[in-house]
Amino acid sequence: MIQKIKGTIDVLPDETPLYRKIETVMREEAKNYGFGEIRTPTFENTELFERGVGDTTDVVQKEMYTFVDRDENRRISLRPEGTASVVRALIEHGCQSEPMPLKYYYLISCFRHEAPQAGRSREFFQFGAELFGADSPAADATMIALASSVFRRLGLSGITLHLNSIGCKNCRPNYRSALVSYFGSHREQLCDTCKTRLEKNPLRLLDCKSPICSEIAKGAPKTVDYLCEDCKKHFNTLTRLLDGMGIAYVVDPAIVRGLDYYTRTVFEFIADGIGAQSTVCGGGRYDGLVEELGGSPLPAIGFAMGLTRVILALRAQGIADPTPDVPRLYIAALGDEASVAASVITERLRRTGAFVECDLVGRSLKAQMKYANKIGADYTLILGDNELASRRAFLRDMKNSTQTEVDLDTFTLP
Ligand code: ATP
Ligand code: MG
Repeated sequence: MIQKIKGTIDVLPDETPLYRKIETVMREEAKNYGFGEIRTPTFENTELFERGVGDTTDVVQKEMYTFVDRDENRRISLRPEGTASVVRALIEHGCQSEPMPLKYYYLISCFRHEAPQAGRSREFFQFGAELFGADSPAADATMIALASSVFRRLGLSGITLHLNSIGCKNCRPNYRSALVSYFGSHREQLCDTCKTRLEKNPLRLLDCKSPICSEIAKGAPKTVDYLCEDCKKHFNTLTRLLDGMGIAYVVDPAIVRGLDYYTRTVFEFIADGIGAQSTVCGGGRYDGLVEELGGSPLPAIGFAMGLTRVILALRAQGIADPTPDVPRLYIAALGDEASVAASVITERLRRTGAFVECDLVGRSLKAQMKYANKIGADYTLILGDNELASRRAFLRDMKNSTQTEVDLDTFTLP
């Protein structure tokens, strides 16, 4: 028996209505905020992610699914996230010459070789959005508002927006040296990964998951205390915008994106009651990435939301799955001739857009009626010799137990 690969999921029809509901909310909200859908390939040249996600990140160093292409002998990776591909596509299609801002959203699966647990899998699904060509705080507020609106429309509460600014290339060097001297004084206690991070990418020490490092990180200098005037102003305006929009937040110095091309605003939405993997959405400004990937400089901000964790949050709050669709009509038949007629009429009605079922497995009439009841059909219709001869039958309303006589060849459902 061949089984699915560890860390992947099958979503069966009893759960897909929930996925579809969430996806519909995401698509509709993205549309209302003016984002167009972008679809990019599931795999890309590995180098794109090395440069676009960062070759010092865990994602690239430890989690990527990379293989050598059969005929070209080059390295290819399954996408671990969406942003790098969107930026590549934007550059490749010359979208930088279009009027700004450019707004894209996507619903994709991503692949990361991580230890599977609740809220963490190896193939997972993301709703992401990216906004290019605007460096205003209003653009940041728009992104945050879009993510919040998805949670609001899903009826989710207990989600807290954690907000921070990590500055820009002007204020980063000061902050960086403050970090290096702080963590340097705790060097011996740091985990091995953090010891190397200390030289290469000290910002990443702030989100190390090891208990000792995260305890040390609590006392670290805070980015917000090192912001230059422009970054300070940007952050203040953003918080004023959020206040005005009625979007609550906490300023959280522990939220960082430890790469050079991440700038200024970074944020996470964290859900109560879903365990350790509680970040349902993460995002931030990455004003340096387009240039890093070969385009002309273009400010940008984006976020990605994990569907599995949204589902965990919905479940934790007891928000029910949408009710599954039930057939409008079940046509029961007695005898071979009637069975043929049932299939033909079912097909005629389906062509009018109705959800109609009839027997396909040779149940007795009694079993068919029982089945119609079980699947919750709104109406039933019984076909026997008499009905075939007169081409008329009774359409029974299962809820009111009333019936109306209909013409088999012309009737439609009320
Ligand atoms: P984490 O710290 O939880 O590993 P991350 O910083 O690696 O998150 P991002 O790259 O920011 O995550 O991805 C955005 C969102 O995608 C996360 O907030 C989370 O909701 C979801 N996500 C990331 N990795 C996984 C995974 N392996 N399984 C399920 N969802 C994931
Ligand atoms: Mg991760």
